[in-house]
Amino acid sequence: MTGLQVAELNAWYGRAQILFQVDINVNEGEVVVLVGKNGAGKTTTLKAIMNLVQRTTGDRHFDGRSIAELRTSAIARLGLGYVPENRRIFGRLTVMENLYVGQQPRRPNAPLWTVERLFEIFPNLGRMRNRLGSEMSGGEQQMLTVARTLMGNPRLILLDEPSEGLAPVIVQQMAAAVREMKRDGLAILLSEQNLHFAKAVADRAYVIEKGHLRFQGTLDSLFAARATYLSV
Ligand code: ATP
Repeated sequence: MTGLQVAELNAWYGRAQILFQVDINVNEGEVVVLVGKNGAGKTTTLKAIMNLVQRTTGDRHFDGRSIAELRTSAIARLGLGYVPENRRIFGRLTVMENLYVGQQPRRPNAPLWTVERLFEIFPNLGRMRNRLGSEMSGGEQQMLTVARTLMGNPRLILLDEPSEGLAPVIVQQMAAAVREMKRDGLAILLSEQNLHFAKAVADRAYVIEKGHLRFQGTLDSLFAARATYLSV
């Protein structure tokens, strides 16, 4: 079975249980959003999938292989990319250099990303190829972080709150970029608090609250029921 399947995922920090029996599927080429408030467990879910949480139980399969016991680097090499919340670019390297740091060989059945294609998706970056990372705005750094992950030619990426802290015009550019990635065949699981961003990019949504999944369905049905699930 292709795509990502997470079943009965539990996670703990110390003695505190943070995730409870979380089930999430992402099919090939699909964009799925995990919606929840601050502290609901979105980041922990993505980290647990990458095996970055010390104590977890539950199944995680990616492209038919169990990844629950694999190291993070091995999971990444299978083609599962991860873009954490905090931007991790190299301040003393240029945009181009940052991109080439992320380069990995081509993967079968995954989109092949060239620097030129990335600059079509992120035109801002194309206009500042030789700028140092440290001289970019937060939004530009966020885009560079995503673009660098794509240089690894992943089949699926986990994107942690891509719109967080960005100015509205940059949020729109990010949404357009996510739609382009999907068009090229990339599957994406993203976490979001911004329901409008979620609706602009995703095929399906899950809502997480205090570590429990409360809803799954289309974005239209989530919007209709948002008073119940999100108290917004
Ligand atoms: P945010 O939008 O703030 O990132 P989130 O939905 O991603 O929220 P998580 O970061 O997954 O939430 O946090 C879930 C819960 O786990 C919170 O109660 C948080 O305080 C707790 N938590 C997160 N990281 C740790 C840690 N390293 N040690 C202990 N508790 C943690």
